[in-house]
Amino acid sequence: MQDGLLLVVSGPSGAGKSTVCSRLLLEMPRMNLSVSVTTRCPRSAEKEGDSYFFRTHDQFEEMVEKDAFLEYARVYDNCYGTPKEYVFDQIAQGKDVLLEIEMQGALQVKRRFPQGVFIFVVPPTLSDLKHRIIKRGSETPESLMRRFSNAYHELSYLDEYHYLVVNDSVESAVEKIKAIIVAERCRMDRNAKLRKKLLDEGADTWA
Ligand code: ADP
Ligand code: 5GP
Repeated sequence: MQDGLLLVVSGPSGAGKSTVCSRLLLEMPRMNLSVSVTTRCPRSAEKEGDSYFFRTHDQFEEMVEKDAFLEYARVYDNCYGTPKEYVFDQIAQGKDVLLEIEMQGALQVKRRFPQGVFIFVVPPTLSDLKHRIIKRGSETPESLMRRFSNAYHELSYLDEYHYLVVNDSVESAVEKIKAIIVAERCRMDRNAKLRKKLLDEGADTWA
């Protein structure tokens, strides 16, 4: 059995990461979302353990001290982290895991787990980004301005990622990520056991 894939999806706020990832998860039953821990307050429709585990700053610090995170970062005055144990358990069971995290955290994951698949999601233009964040209606005017000005800075991380997925329509972005997954599963370095088995069998039979 192959290990599961660790998919890391990042992109500027408003690019459509959550929308695309939710659709992807519906279509990929073998893939599980890693639910992050955050110190930010729940938004209206968010339930504990569904989109996030909501914790106090002290509780978060305690988890950092216990080395419970694969990565963590401070984003817009709040902390976010990926619980390590869940991710590695799932991968060892051959299940794919999806992390939807920002770039500082993604870089930490890349250093600790270079076999991960790193995908950067963008809207077709930065003007689309602006309209999408406003349409979502989740931000105060101050946090909107901060997210807009950060978006350009975040593009400087583009070259750290393996794949660039333009979220023109949700359907096409999901199809592109599904194609990436199929290609990644076929990579020679992910099929070392099968490769060896074929070569051994060939050597026994025809050498
Ligand atoms: P992110 O998670 O990257 O911050 P969201 O998934 O919350 O972004 O999407 C931001 C807004 O853009 C939401 O209102 C969402 O419905 C909308 N959106 C997402 N993808 C598309 C798309 N392909 N075309 C138009 N609007 C989109
Ligand atoms: P939001 O508050 O809008 O849900 O998320 C803000 C940002 O934090 C998004 O870019 C999101 O991808 C990122 N994020 C969510 N969970 C994590 C995490 O566990 N680690 C890191 N580094 N970023 C995260």
